[in-house]
Amino acid sequence: MDDLILIKYGELTTKKQNRKTFIKLLADNIKKILDGEEFNIKFDRVRMYIECNNVDSVVNKLKKVFGIHGIVICHKVNTNIEDIKLKVLELLKKETFNTFKINTKRADKTFNIPSMEVNNIIGGYVLKNLNTKVDVKSPDILVTIEIRVEGTFIYTNEIKGLGGYPVGIQGKGMLMLSGGIDSPVAGYLSIKRGVDLECLYFESPPHTSIEAKNKVLTLARIINEYSGNIKVNVIPFTKLQEAIYINVPDNYVITIMRRMMYRVSERLAKKHKCKVIINGESIGQVASQTLTSMAAINSVTNFPVIRPVACMDKLEIIDIAKKLNTYDISILPYEDCCTIFLPEHPVINPDIDKCIKYESTFDYEALINECIDNVEVITNLKEDKSDLL
Ligand code: ATP
Ligand code: MG
Repeated sequence: MDDLILIKYGELTTKKQNRKTFIKLLADNIKKILDGEEFNIKFDRVRMYIECNNVDSVVNKLKKVFGIHGIVICHKVNTNIEDIKLKVLELLKKETFNTFKINTKRADKTFNIPSMEVNNIIGGYVLKNLNTKVDVKSPDILVTIEIRVEGTFIYTNEIKGLGGYPVGIQGKGMLMLSGGIDSPVAGYLSIKRGVDLECLYFESPPHTSIEAKNKVLTLARIINEYSGNIKVNVIPFTKLQEAIYINVPDNYVITIMRRMMYRVSERLAKKHKCKVIINGESIGQVASQTLTSMAAINSVTNFPVIRPVACMDKLEIIDIAKKLNTYDISILPYEDCCTIFLPEHPVINPDIDKCIKYESTFDYEALINECIDNVEVITNLKEDKSDLL
């Protein structure tokens, strides 16, 4: 294979004792995402090397892998000083810079010119052919020449990787995924920190449409590009939601509905061995997200709930959503179960005792069981046909 890509691990290097597990998982994740490409992967404590044939396509895929700090495309030449000279000059001619430095690493000791001398020969050749200067302390451009048994690899620029941790290092989280802007961003940020996601979506047909569901699946598919094996649990919420509207005073329906969502989410999270629930709540965004509301809603469970966008402004969340390409999908106008029958004056300081009193008027446990028993599980998002883009 002709091309070689070098992967730098980034934040992994700080995790000494877990290093091996991290690197092995990163390699596994890379193998999964490169499925269908011709490639070979090798790694040690500091680096990973990928040999491949289709470098552009491979690099594009690697840009979506968390745990990669830097991606470097190496150019392979035969190990002789003339070929190295020509390749270095060719690469530098494409760049704009004032100063440079050559850094040679000679792993193949059968090559009989020592590293320092290679630096001098190649540096001298560049100086003769280009209007530039050497700066060994902080060059604008650093040319690395790695002389290895299988050939010599030359590289300059580093493409920035996504950073974060390899997906799965933290185990699984259950993302409450709606069609809105916030929850896909919350999911993406959790994946970034190594959480493997499973999603759940509450639908209330016929009050919510098939388009609303397809929108959620499309969002799931976009974040799945960073994760790979996301499942979506679609929960039939109609009966439970209708029971709430019949039995609970208007101003408390949203609070109670969200308490029910948390109860169902906890049950499903435990069933699927998730360690946390994740959602897109953001402090103060709506009546159900005041700190008092969040406390009243959260009080139905001891299960940990992570809110990655809790302290972000809406505009900051939108920025990420736009970069992620979820924004244009999220703003499509299909109603979610949270937006149907919105009360005019939802309570902003709900009282937990009142919540408990209103809930005691109907048998919600039976309805929660029904939700759990009738979940529709959607796997294989890669083959999802509900493309709204
Ligand atoms: P928006 O971006 O418009 O605020 P949202 O999805 O954040 O949309 P909210 O009403 O703010 O909507 O809901 C808060 C959080 O509750 C969501 O981020 C999501 O995690 C969860 N949630 C809301 N509706 C649903 C639903 N139908 N299914 C699953 N989770 C939901
Ligand atoms: Mg929101």
